[in-house]
Amino acid sequence: MIRLKNEKQIDGIRKSCKLLSAMYRELLPLVKSGVETIELDRWVHNWIKKAGGKPAFLGYGPRKNPFPGSICISINDEVIHGIPSKRKIAEGDLVSLDCGIDLDGYISDQAVTVEAGKVSPAAHKLNIVTRECLYAGIKAARAGDRLLQIARAVQGHALAQGYGVVHQFCGHGVGLEVHEDPQVVNVPHGPNPRMTGGMVLALEPMINLGTGDVEILEDGWTVVTADRKLSAHWEHTIALFPDHTEILSDPIMEA
Ligand code: MG
Ligand code: MG
Repeated sequence: MIRLKNEKQIDGIRKSCKLLSAMYRELLPLVKSGVETIELDRWVHNWIKKAGGKPAFLGYGPRKNPFPGSICISINDEVIHGIPSKRKIAEGDLVSLDCGIDLDGYISDQAVTVEAGKVSPAAHKLNIVTRECLYAGIKAARAGDRLLQIARAVQGHALAQGYGVVHQFCGHGVGLEVHEDPQVVNVPHGPNPRMTGGMVLALEPMINLGTGDVEILEDGWTVVTADRKLSAHWEHTIALFPDHTEILSDPIMEA
């Protein structure tokens, strides 16, 4: 069931999103070679707590294997859900960060992919095109149109570059819970409801240098490309109004 949000709820989600983007702006300069990803996780946890929020992903998931971090950090062939660890970021890594904040019961969700130092031209292009895919999807997210328009826009832009689009994971409704209906797929298939005002959606293309196939590592969380080629991930939380669409999270590094 798709939960439509009223103005007050959208305002709460907007505040949560702005806080999350503010966190990212301070975090990004810290993402560089030599840093352990667990250090970044601790920093994020403290920042969110100090700001009066709760890390929305910490403890999320099945009771026997809840996500142990406050932020997902996925490097190179890791697509999403990377667990913070003693692993050090290396020069040239493509580092995908995905975080959510619960601020007074309102949930935000945003992901960015950071280039640690100088990455290969292929990695840089993948990163740029993945971000373009996100904005192509957002442009297609309009009240009155059908949901799969988003997937067609995302997939079209990725395939034009010869990239693979991850199809086993997708975006989602968000705002009152971490994951809500509807699923916002990046490859057109499945239900195709009409988009309406009051929908709050997390759009999040995951684009691979090779095929779109992925697998989950033994930790039960980390999603990697099946061919172990690079992947990038960008995400915004957006709100649909009858006459316009608003990106609730702020752009990070888009200049
Ligand atoms: Mg996310
Ligand atoms: Mg999400």
